Amino acid sequence: MKTFAAELAYFFRGQARKNIKILTFYCSFLTLLVMTYAALFRFLMWELEGRDYSFITGIYWTITAMSTLGYGDITFSSDPGFLFSAIVTLSGVVFMLILLPFGMISLFLAPWIEQRLRYRATMALPAETSGHILIFGFDSVTRTLTRHLQNRRTPFVIVSPDHEQAIALEEEGLQVVYGTPTDAKALRGARVEAAGHIIANLSDPENTNLCLTARSLCDTPIATLVNEPEHQDLLRLAGADQSIPLKNILGHYLASRATTRGALAHVLDSFGSLQIAEIPVQGTPFVGQTLAQAQVRQRTGLAVIGLWERGRFTTPQADTILSPKALMVLAGTAEQLKALEKVTGEEESEDRILILGHGRIGCAAASFLERRSVPFILIDCQSNPDCLDHVAVIGDATSPKVLRESGIQEAKGLIVTTNDDSTNIFLTLASRHINPDIRIVARANREENVEQLYAAGADFVVSNASVGANILSNIIEGKESIFLTEGINVFRRDLPPELIGKSIQDSRIRPRSGCSIVALERDDDQDPLVVPPPETILAKGMGLILIGSPEQEQVFSRTFRH
Ligand code: ADP
Ligand code: ZN
Repeated sequence: MKTFAAELAYFFRGQARKNIKILTFYCSFLTLLVMTYAALFRFLMWELEGRDYSFITGIYWTITAMSTLGYGDITFSSDPGFLFSAIVTLSGVVFMLILLPFGMISLFLAPWIEQRLRYRATMALPAETSGHILIFGFDSVTRTLTRHLQNRRTPFVIVSPDHEQAIALEEEGLQVVYGTPTDAKALRGARVEAAGHIIANLSDPENTNLCLTARSLCDTPIATLVNEPEHQDLLRLAGADQSIPLKNILGHYLASRATTRGALAHVLDSFGSLQIAEIPVQGTPFVGQTLAQAQVRQRTGLAVIGLWERGRFTTPQADTILSPKALMVLAGTAEQLKALEKVTGEEESEDRILILGHGRIGCAAASFLERRSVPFILIDCQSNPDCLDHVAVIGDATSPKVLRESGIQEAKGLIVTTNDDSTNIFLTLASRHINPDIRIVARANREENVEQLYAAGADFVVSNASVGANILSNIIEGKESIFLTEGINVFRRDLPPELIGKSIQDSRIRPRSGCSIVALERDDDQDPLVVPPPETILAKGMGLILIGSPEQEQVFSRTFRH
């Protein structure tokens, strides 16, 4: 039954769906034609022969004539009548017996047979396949991951137990193996032993099963996402090399961006000794100063490589004013970040955060704030049976009364964490309306909604998909730490040979790709050159650490192809 439904579903997708419209249009035309003939038939019979037939008889006569069946039980007996009958029969031949079957075959039957023949899901990869990333479980996180992998030209294969999904993904041009992820045969078909990495993104029990099966076959490294942080150890026991409690990480990340306390120098990424960190401007002595006045570089050696404000990433100039709502993105060494902590000194004390939603992410955000002694209030429409640590206000956060009674007017920060993006957008908009100064950090479940959350008034949006995908790409590339931001990447490339000996200015990297150089890695053991001046000469063996949007990263790869 399921397969029949699946076959039927074909006719409601893509081109077939458009063709159904054409068919409906054509059938309406035929019906109208039959009706017209039936009416004419009645009229002519009465006028020419003086016989009175009902409309139903008219339809019956028209259909027998058009289909060339011609029972002959009702006939005209005059020349004009014969002429009419001939016209009806001829148009029947054209519209009913030729065009209709032709349309049915060319619009539906032929494409359907073709797709049946063309798409037989792959069950096994060619024997020479190796170094590919195997992805189990395709959702928004792994979809974003595939985009990263495509950008970096890393081959990947998705294993899917769902025939429909396998076909749909293959239609998109992705490489898919059709099979049950926990089945050794399917794993062998996906050449698990030759794969570069395994990404397990199923439910916790399925991931465990997958790890055990894969371990019985090979030593390929496995990275798995876990729902329950308590399952991390079990997954490691089952053979996973990394287990990532994504929701916990997201909760911490949201919380660290919502408070100014203890959020100092949140390290995002590192390339050797170079670290990329971010810190809210609020709570530092830099609020309201220009970048030149703040003297971050002179006082700490750190370079301010970017500013985040309301979802916009900008490269600051000397006269850019540091607004309390912004986050500074800094590049430098661990010692320099420590020096910064000394400069920023005392943290702001008055801070109160509202957390909407006490699911796993909301709970993780609450724990983060608790550890930093930031007062917070949790609001959820139901109590969380898995959490014994927090007491939430029970109420629907979409009600302005609940928000007001929880103190949204006085709160400094708001973390919006429900699992429904429409609710999150609504909550962001409503809260921004009540308290224009509050710092709003929101969770986006789908990447498409990031923009809308910013439009609704969020200061920072964190999407599950891009955070998850960033963590996984970093693991695949063998990096320890995590770069977590929306729409901006810091990435490393070997110096393209064509640029050797040129100065940064002459390399025209920024005009040609939009990416900026954050730092230059030197091959000897020296510290990287952070934000090098334009006249710096690019020498053989250097590594480029660049910053840019994912699109700019793509342009860079295309422009400076080896
Ligand atoms: P996750 O574990 O990914 O955080 P959950 O579905 O467990 O996701 O968490 C979402 C939480 O948000 C749930 O506890 C749910 O009760 C809560 N929630 C959803 N809508 C509202 C709302 N309008 N008001 C308050 N809480 C809400
Ligand atoms: Zn909790």
